[in-house]
Amino acid sequence: MTRARFDALTAARYRPPALESRPRTPVNLEEVFGKNVFGLREMMATLPKPQYKALLSTLQNGTPLDPSVADAVAVAMKEWAMERGATHFTHWFQPLTGLTAEKHDSFLEPASDGKALTEFSGKELVRGEPDASSFPSGGLRATFEARGYTAWDPTSPAFIMEGPSGAYLCIPSAFASWTGEALDKKTPLLRSIQALDKQARRALALFGETPEPVRATLGPEQEFFLIDEEFFFRRPDMVLCGRTLFGTKPPKGQEMEDHYFGSIPERILAYMNEVELELYKLGVPLKTRHNEVAPGQYEMAPVFEEANRAADHQQLTMAVLKRVARKYGLVCVLHEKPFQGVNGSGKHLNWSFGTPSRNLLEPGETPHENKQFLFFCSAVLKAVARHQDLIRAAVAYAGNDHRLGANEAPPAIISAFVGDQLWDIFEQIAEAGEAKSSKAGGLMGLGVDTLPPLPRHTGDRNRTSPFAFTGNKFEFRAVGASQSISFPATVLNTIVAEALDEMSSRLEAELARGTAFDEALRGILADEARQFKPIIFNGDNYSAEWREEAARRGLLHLPTTLDALPYLVSEKNVALFEKYGVLSRRELESRYEIYVDRYFKTVNIEGETGQYMAQTMVLPAAVRYLEELLRTAEKAKASGLKAEGILATARRVEELVDRLVEKIDILAIQNQELGGDTVFSKAEHMRRNIIPALNAVRDVVDRLERVIPDDYWPFPTYRDMLHVK
Ligand code: ADP
Ligand code: MG
Repeated sequence: MTRARFDALTAARYRPPALESRPRTPVNLEEVFGKNVFGLREMMATLPKPQYKALLSTLQNGTPLDPSVADAVAVAMKEWAMERGATHFTHWFQPLTGLTAEKHDSFLEPASDGKALTEFSGKELVRGEPDASSFPSGGLRATFEARGYTAWDPTSPAFIMEGPSGAYLCIPSAFASWTGEALDKKTPLLRSIQALDKQARRALALFGETPEPVRATLGPEQEFFLIDEEFFFRRPDMVLCGRTLFGTKPPKGQEMEDHYFGSIPERILAYMNEVELELYKLGVPLKTRHNEVAPGQYEMAPVFEEANRAADHQQLTMAVLKRVARKYGLVCVLHEKPFQGVNGSGKHLNWSFGTPSRNLLEPGETPHENKQFLFFCSAVLKAVARHQDLIRAAVAYAGNDHRLGANEAPPAIISAFVGDQLWDIFEQIAEAGEAKSSKAGGLMGLGVDTLPPLPRHTGDRNRTSPFAFTGNKFEFRAVGASQSISFPATVLNTIVAEALDEMSSRLEAELARGTAFDEALRGILADEARQFKPIIFNGDNYSAEWREEAARRGLLHLPTTLDALPYLVSEKNVALFEKYGVLSRRELESRYEIYVDRYFKTVNIEGETGQYMAQTMVLPAAVRYLEELLRTAEKAKASGLKAEGILATARRVEELVDRLVEKIDILAIQNQELGGDTVFSKAEHMRRNIIPALNAVRDVVDRLERVIPDDYWPFPTYRDMLHVK
């Protein structure tokens, strides 16, 4: 008898040391927040005045950085970091793997007398040169010219990472080839922030506003699973692929709806407290935490921030979520679909843009009179209508294919939800050329005198929409849980910059022709509303009718990654990104290649892991059981019993074993196939041959799981993994 499976009772009883050793002293949030961040306050305290002023102007107005400032900052930064125990520094950057990368350098500088000094110069602060040959570059950088540079991003503050036995200074950086081409996710994001700023400022000027910087803002809501590490590490698929390749839905999943928003289990709560504390020190403003829909699933979300900072903070959040989990005997799983038949994880990306004092997507009480809001909101809808393909491509990768369109997440058809009030206004604008009223939200009584009346939102929530207007921001819900938010944000910033550019140009032209401002604006808004109307859908995005309706409206439906990615390099999109200086053709082509390559590798690993688990874990368990059944049947017959039930079971197992071997063989043959010479043909081979072959193996394995004795089953089941907390 094999007893490889972990005992759920022991797991349930386990109390991680971190739970016991937590000091119960109150946390002073104000003191803790940003403690490990070299922010404005620290700069003001440590930098000479002129340098501080120069830096401030770069941060607040985007003026180019004076090189002399860097030396002063380096000195101050080093002092500050060393006082807090840092011994090393690293340029912290975001290569195209979607993760973060760092290479540490010590502050130590040996001196001639056998002693040592510590040093950190402006040059080292501004530029790093990691050996870049092993980061994906999609042909942008041949390995013989492996130089890649990291460049300090002064707009995102440096911070200290604390480890168990030391600390190091992290300097948020961009990463580029020595020809100046972006090899990372931050550079295009920064460029897109700049493009949106420029176009939005220009529009504001047309409205007679005094110029102020305009910033994109992001608030990402992170969903994740927490799995007991004993279960996690007993599943090669979890370890290698981040998701289960096999497993049947447990008798109790999420249908009782008893987990969602339920009280948070003790171990999980302790974990969340520590995650928050760590992130607060790093200046990440986490705000909300709760149980999610699936058992074992949770969500944490920050207060929104300026986009570049928010993107850095999101990377930190994912890293801290993973790191802290191990202290509590847990593994944090960020995969979009760790369990078949159970809700997957997304990362709703709340997006807006505004000046330091004002959100430009704030409709106010009577949006029909709010010309600026109508202008900016129309620009967003115009952008979405024109660039559905890009929005879809921004969330296209293997993990997300399991989630999009699976009746738990938005479909792979991009549309926008605007709610009743805005729909009514845009209808009026499209039909009559202008809107004369806003449907009121009003107050809602609860029928109990002692409860206060609540202001009613003007639109209900629509959880099924991929891109929903939720009050004063859009919520891009198709983003996957494990994804860097940089590229989705880059796309939104760029397409809205373009829409604003076009609408402002037309407005300028009308004004130059002598048309009155209001009249010119009316004409533009009416034309735009007529054109973007087909992208608006307030109904149920999960329904089959919507699929048909969307096809009638001519909306794109790009079900899988490989359907969506080619759009990255369409002529329309190359022209768009080049025009706004966000990504060059070569940069786009390299990204396309890298993303296709990642798809290929992801599915390839899954195919091989599936073959290995089915062959070396499931098949032997089935055969052992068969042997036991046959032995028992023989004994039974010798004792004069008929052994009918035993033999019937043996036949059923034998049949499944035959089928399993047949399906494993097919998968093995496909795994052997190289799928041609290019990354594109290899990826196509994955989609066309590996995925169906793996699904066929899964089908038999999942049947066997229902037949084979529990104590023979070679890895933990969904029941264990999802319900032991
Ligand atoms: P809801 O519950 O309707 O989703 P919340 O107020 O809880 O709205 O916000 C959800 C997320 O949206 C949070 O991370 C929040 O910070 C973010 N958010 C709110 N306003 C903005 C904004 N102007 N820009 C970007 N994100 C925002
Ligand atoms: Mg939300």
